[in-house]
Amino acid sequence: MMLHDRDRVFTNLYGVHDWRRAGAQQRGVWDGTKGLLELGRDEIVQMIKDSELRGRGGAGFPAGLKWSFMPKQSDGRPSYLVVNADESEPGSCKDREILRNDPHRLLEGCLVAGFAMGANTCYIYVRGEYFLEAERLQHAVDEAYDAKLIGKNACGSGWDYDIHVHRGAGAYICGEETALLESLEGKKGQPRLKPPFPAAVGLYGCPTTVTNVETIAVAPEILRRGVSWWTGLGRPKNTGTKIFSISGHVQQPCNVEEEMGIPLKQLIETHAGGVRGGWDNLQAIIPGGSSVPCLPNTICNDILMDFDSLREAKSGLGTAAVIVIDKSADIVEAIANLSHFYMHESCGQCTPCREGTGWMWRVMTRMVKGQASISEIDDLLDVTYQVEGHTICALGDAAAWPIQGLIRHFRPEMERRILAYRRDAQAAE
Ligand code: SF4
Repeated sequence: MMLHDRDRVFTNLYGVHDWRRAGAQQRGVWDGTKGLLELGRDEIVQMIKDSELRGRGGAGFPAGLKWSFMPKQSDGRPSYLVVNADESEPGSCKDREILRNDPHRLLEGCLVAGFAMGANTCYIYVRGEYFLEAERLQHAVDEAYDAKLIGKNACGSGWDYDIHVHRGAGAYICGEETALLESLEGKKGQPRLKPPFPAAVGLYGCPTTVTNVETIAVAPEILRRGVSWWTGLGRPKNTGTKIFSISGHVQQPCNVEEEMGIPLKQLIETHAGGVRGGWDNLQAIIPGGSSVPCLPNTICNDILMDFDSLREAKSGLGTAAVIVIDKSADIVEAIANLSHFYMHESCGQCTPCREGTGWMWRVMTRMVKGQASISEIDDLLDVTYQVEGHTICALGDAAAWPIQGLIRHFRPEMERRILAYRRDAQAAE
C-alpha cells in the first residue's frame, strides 16, 4: 500500500510551491467551486456522509453526520462554522503545514462546508504560537476577498460568506471545541457542559459546527473528484488520505500524506527513514498524539494506521501524530512527562481532572524512580478510571489514557523498578 501522487490532496504540503492564490489555483484549488455549491446543501452533506470522511481532529466523528446536525431552517439566529486551528496536541503538527503552505485549500473548504451548513460566517481560530501561519492565512483571506472568491456573492454563487481569522493565546484547552468558543467570545477558555451541543447552542448562543482544519480542507476535493475516489482509498469507515506527523526516535521526522490504513511499520520505514538503530530497537509508539495509549513493539509490527484498527488495539488514531520511542528512552519517565503536561493544562473546572491529574503526576514521578509499592500500580490504574469519563471535557481522558497504556503494556518494567529500589534501600540500611 502506498498513496499514488495522483491521489494526493495536499500537493504543497512541504511548501515547495507558491502558497498564494495564483499557485493554489494552478494546483486546482478554487476550481469550479461555484459548481460545487450548485450541488446544493443537502447533496453536499449527503456526499460527505457517503464518503465516510471522519473528523481529523482526534475523535474521528463522521463529518457528514456532524454537518447534518445544523438546522435546515433558521429560527432567526445565524449559523456559524468555526475551524479549529488550535493544534496543540504534543506530536501533532499537520494543520500547521496546511495553514502555511496551502491556506487557500482550507478557505475553499470553509466556503463549501459553511454553505452546506447554512452559515454565512466562518471563524478560523489559530493557536497563538502559529504566528507566521496566521499571517499567511490572513493574506490568503485578503486575496480571496479581492478575487471575490469569498465575501458578497462568493464565487458568483449568490451566497455571501465572510471568513475571520482569530488568534488564540496559546492554551491547550482552547483546542476543546466549547473552550474554543468561550475564548472566541472573549471569555476565559474553559469547556462548557454538554448538552446543549454547539449545533444547537454554540458561538454567541447560535448553531455552530466546530471542525478541524484537515477535515475542512479535504472536503472540496471529495466533491470534485467524487465519493468513489475517496472511498477507494483506505477501508470501509476508514476512508481516504490522512496526514501523519512522525516524530521521536526516527531518522527523519516528517509530515506525510498517506492512505488511511497504511501499516505502521511501512509508514515509518518508507517515510521517516526507519527507527533509530533499526526496527528491533523500537520500544513503543504513541500512534495518535500524546493523549492516546502507547503500544509496545510487539503490537507495532503489523498494526494498521486507522481509527478502527487502533481502537481494537486499545489505542487510537487521534490526530495521527506518531511518536516513536526507541529502547534508549525511559518509557515510565516519558509517560510521567505527559502526566505533567496534562496536569499543567487542566483548566481546573472539575474536581476529578483538577485533583486527579496532579495526583497521577505525583505518583508517576515516584514510579519513575521505583519509589512506590507494587499495589500502588493498581491504585494508580484505579484513579485513571475514576478520572476517565467523569469530567466535563476529554482532557481528563487524555490524562488517564497514557498511564493506562503504560500499565497495560509495561507493568513488568514498573514492578522491576519498585523491586530494585527496595533492594537498593535495604542494601543501604
Ligand atoms: Fe477543565 Fe479538566 Fe474539567 Fe476539562 S476535564 S473542563 S480541562 S478541569
